[in-house]
Amino acid sequence: MIHRLDRILTEMPPPSDPDAAGAARVQELLGGKFGEMSTFMNYTFQSFNFRNKKAARPFFELIANIAAEEFGHIELVAVAINTMLTGATPTDDGKAPKDSMTQLREMAINPHHFIAGGQGALCQDSRGLPWTGDNVFSSGDLVEDLTHNFFLETGARNNKLKVYEMCDHPAARALTGYLLVRGGVHQVAYARAVELLTGADLSKMFPSPRIPTDKIPESRKHMDAGRHTKLYRFSPNDYLELAAVFNGPHPETGEPLEVVDDPGEGFPLHDLPSQPAVFAPDYAPEEIKEIADRLRKQAGLPDKPTAVYADGNGSAPKRKSPAKKSTAARKKSSAKK
Ligand code: MN
Ligand code: MN
Repeated sequence: MIHRLDRILTEMPPPSDPDAAGAARVQELLGGKFGEMSTFMNYTFQSFNFRNKKAARPFFELIANIAAEEFGHIELVAVAINTMLTGATPTDDGKAPKDSMTQLREMAINPHHFIAGGQGALCQDSRGLPWTGDNVFSSGDLVEDLTHNFFLETGARNNKLKVYEMCDHPAARALTGYLLVRGGVHQVAYARAVELLTGADLSKMFPSPRIPTDKIPESRKHMDAGRHTKLYRFSPNDYLELAAVFNGPHPETGEPLEVVDDPGEGFPLHDLPSQPAVFAPDYAPEEIKEIADRLRKQAGLPDKPTAVYADGNGSAPKRKSPAKKSTAARKKSSAKK
């Protein structure tokens, strides 16, 4: 099962000038063949279908644990799309509904963002085609699945770079800059797994694709923070065998690969404003607020929402402090006891 936190994996910018055409392109990273729905569902199904885990525990854990990170990547792509679409329709001017969205006609948008959706992310690719389970490869053959996953991460980074080059919106840049780095970690992880099982040295293929990640400023800052060498363990107590596979030098930089116990406490989200022209969350959002305020009061909840938003509003719920030590460091300290 999955334990959910109301935080995101990296800091995302607040809404600025809307870019509905850019958002339509970013959809490829959500519901495209090489998008985050595909990585999430591929690793999720491979982990569900994994047989004889006792005999292959570190490889099972690698796939299952990366699946959990991919959920957070889908979330980040959705945040970017929602941010880019914010403000793309006019706010209610109090007049009878007429033609306030006709200006969208001239843009290379996905009309479903406005007609089927409420200016939010859709489970579709950049052509507006729905994501399909046919994008999931789960053969049951471990070497075949791992090789597929290496290829999937390679294609995913290829598409991320192209979307980076197509979109200059700050949300698209923050998104792709971060995902290029994290996708690189997953690529290295699957390459190591194939190498340890078969002896095939996939590290000779790096950089693959040939992306100068360190020259991209939005990626560089994550590399400077060491996020290109760390595999996060997405569980408080399970998946303790990742370091058996994720180890050795990074194939591009030579730095040591490391498993760390969690991705940190994450970042709060921006509370994106209502978009009444598309009924998100309603044509008259203030009525929903009134009802929610009354219900919260009746439930004895504090006046301020019990969540923190990126603008600092709200009140923080009490959090258990996350474990900071790496798996290796923890093993060392428990050995001393
Ligand atoms: Mn991903
Ligand atoms: Mn990945």
